[in-house]
Amino acid sequence: MTRYWAEQAWLGGEVGPGGRFPGELAQGANSRVEHGVLIEVRGDRIAAVARDEARDGAIELRGLVLPGLANAHSHAFHRALRGRTHRAGGSFWTWREDMYAAAASLDPDSYRALARAVFGEMALAGITGVGEFHYLHHGPGGTPYDDPNAMGHALIEAAAEAGIRITLLDTCYLASGFGTPPEGVQERFSDGDAAAWAERASALRGAPHARIGAAIHSVRAVPAGQLATVADWARERGVPLHAHLSEQRAENEACLAATGRTPAELLDEHGALGERCCMVHATHLTDADIERLGGTAVCICATTERDLADGIGPARALASPLCLGSDSHAVIDLFEEARAVELDERLRSERRGHFSAAELLRAATDHASIGWPEAGRIEPGAPADLVAVSLDSVRLAGAHPDTLLESAVFAATAADVRDVIASGRQIVRDGRHTSIDVPAALQQTCLAPLLRA
Ligand SMILES: [Zn+2]
Repeated sequence: MTRYWAEQAWLGGEVGPGGRFPGELAQGANSRVEHGVLIEVRGDRIAAVARDEARDGAIELRGLVLPGLANAHSHAFHRALRGRTHRAGGSFWTWREDMYAAAASLDPDSYRALARAVFGEMALAGITGVGEFHYLHHGPGGTPYDDPNAMGHALIEAAAEAGIRITLLDTCYLASGFGTPPEGVQERFSDGDAAAWAERASALRGAPHARIGAAIHSVRAVPAGQLATVADWARERGVPLHAHLSEQRAENEACLAATGRTPAELLDEHGALGERCCMVHATHLTDADIERLGGTAVCICATTERDLADGIGPARALASPLCLGSDSHAVIDLFEEARAVELDERLRSERRGHFSAAELLRAATDHASIGWPEAGRIEPGAPADLVAVSLDSVRLAGAHPDTLLESAVFAATAADVRDVIASGRQIVRDGRHTSIDVPAALQQTCLAPLLRA
C-alpha cells in the first residue's frame, strides 16, 4: 500500500458548491478542485480516496493532481515528421510525402525504438493510456513478417517500456482510394481483404497493459462491401472500433461520388457506428451526420487538424462523448488539445463559454473510448493513474485558488507535468521519465527514418 497526498486534486467535480450539471456551461460556474486529498494505492489500483485530510506521512504530490490523461488517437511514427513538413510553407503533399518516407523505412526493431521514445514523450505529458491507430503492418512490398503482427507487438512492447497502457487499434487498410488498389508504401498497410485482416488481427496478443481494438482506416481505404467484416469483428469481441471520419471535404466528395452516401451514412449502414465506436476528426459533417453520430464517441485532434488545414469540426453540436488525440504529434500536449476544442468554437462563433474546464478535462481523461472505461478517474477501484501539474511554473504561478482547473486547462502545457503515476508505478518524477532519457531517445530515433528514406 502506498499513500499519496495532494494539496489540490480534481476528482471530477464540475462546479462548486452546488454539484454537477450536464451539457452547457452555467453562467459564472467554476470547475471544482478539492483540497488535502489522500489517495491510497494498492498494487495498480486506487484503494481509497479521502478529502480534507492532513498529509500525515503520505508521499506529497505537489501542484494540482489530475487523473491520467488519455491520448485516444496516435500514429506513433508520425512523430518523426514534426516540424519538417512545414518546409517551404508546407502543403498536405509535403506532409504525406514525408509520412510515406518514414513508413517505408521502419522495421519492427526500429519501430519499437521510435515508439518507446514517443510513448516516453507521452508519459512526460501526463498521458497514461494511448489508442494507437496502427496500420503499418507488413514488410517492404507488403510481405508479412514471420510474426505477421511483429509491428503491432513492437508497439505493445514499446508502451510497456514507457510505462503506459495501450490499446492497439489494429487498422484495416485495403485501398488507396475508392476503387484504387494500394500503391507504393501503402502495400505495407494492406492485408489484401478484410477477412485476411481479421485473421491476422485475431492473432494479436494483449497484455496486462495492452488491449486490442479495431480500426477502419477510412471509407476510402476499406471498400464498402468489407466494412461490416471489421465492424462485426469488433462487436463480437466487445472491443473499440475507431475510424477516421470526414477529415477533409475531398473525402466526403469522393465518398458521395462513389457510393451516393456521406462517410457517416456509409459507416452506419455497415454497423460501424454506435456503442464502443469512436470517430476520429468528424470535421465536415451534415446535420443528419451529426444526429446519426449521437452515442458514438468522437475524437477531436485539434492540433493536427489545424496543422493539416482540415477545418474546425462541430464539437459543441455533437451529442457524442468527446475524447482527444494528438494524432500526427505535431505537438504532444493534451492541455493544448483540450483548450483548442473551446477556443476553436470561440473563433467560429465569436462567442465565449461553450465548454467548461471540467468538460474539457473529462475529454482529456476519457479512457472509455479506447476500451478502458475503469480508468481516468481518481476513485476506488480505478487504475492508479495520477498526474501532478506544477503550479509554480511561469505559466501557472499566481493561479487563483478558485479557478485552478481553468488555469490548468487554459494555460498549462505538457511541460508543467511534474510527476506521473501510471497503474500504481511512478513513471515521471520531477519532470523526468524514470527509466528513459526521452529527449536522447527521440534524438536517436526520429531522424533515422527520414535519413534512411
Ligand atoms: Zn489519424
